[in-house]
Amino acid sequence: MRLELDSLTHRYGNEPAVDDVSFGLESGELVALLGPSGCGKTTLVQAIAGHIHPTAGRVLLRGADVTDVPAESRQVSVVFQQSTLFPHMTVSENVAYGLAARDTGSERRDEVVSEYLELVDLRDQRGAYPSELSGGQRRRVELARALAPQPDLLVLDEPLSALDRTLREQLRDEIARIQRETGVTTLFVTHDQEEAMTLADRLVVMNDGTVSGIGEPRTLYESP
Ligand code: ADP
Ligand code: ADP
Repeated sequence: MRLELDSLTHRYGNEPAVDDVSFGLESGELVALLGPSGCGKTTLVQAIAGHIHPTAGRVLLRGADVTDVPAESRQVSVVFQQSTLFPHMTVSENVAYGLAARDTGSERRDEVVSEYLELVDLRDQRGAYPSELSGGQRRRVELARALAPQPDLLVLDEPLSALDRTLREQLRDEIARIQRETGVTTLFVTHDQEEAMTLADRLVVMNDGTVSGIGEPRTLYESP
């Protein structure tokens, strides 16, 4: 198992935001975490990324408890709903940024940056600044930056929610393709059932801090 959540509970004060959640992702899987606003998705993502220490239970990445791993060695990349690109850096500098913390020589770094810009179809924009790109292109730079360090786990936290419908559908297909090509183990977090069902191999459905269903899209939701 690549990622394993073992009876994870997190409380803010006395209120559990995440209440005894257990599930796992096999290596190479694309799993959607689906649930309405307020059900605990962000809290779960923060625990997976090691940003919060859960009240109880464990998050294991390749068998190791994420809270035992120092921040700089954590192999989880997260893409958020809002852009986190650096406006004063070019596209290639932004993508290289994720590699800078690693022990990557500069020549190899250029190679890796080119490889990932190629993957997201942005090789001609490598010298552009984020403000010169379209919303969809900026999302793709974020994907390249998240993937370049070859993380053990990619978490996409509502990555398409701020976009209009057409762009959302285009990027959904892009994400599916990129995930297939790289084979990166991916947790796709969304409140959008259609998005979850079209993208994911399996769904984990959350309600009110707990898992209310888990399985393949067509076994959870009958087609009309
Ligand atoms: P989602 O991402 O699904 O919207 P969250 O994890 O953000 O869910 O929130 C789950 C519950 O925990 C909500 O009731 C929310 O108000 C509460 N919550 C989230 N973060 C905090 C916090 N820092 N302090 C107190 N309550 C919080
Ligand atoms: P999302 O739906 O993406 O979770 P929110 O507006 O619920 O967006 O949460 C945004 C931020 O505010 C998160 O960092 C979350 O932990 C925090 N937060 C959410 N609910 C509360 C709350 N009741 N008290 C304090 N912080 C909260």
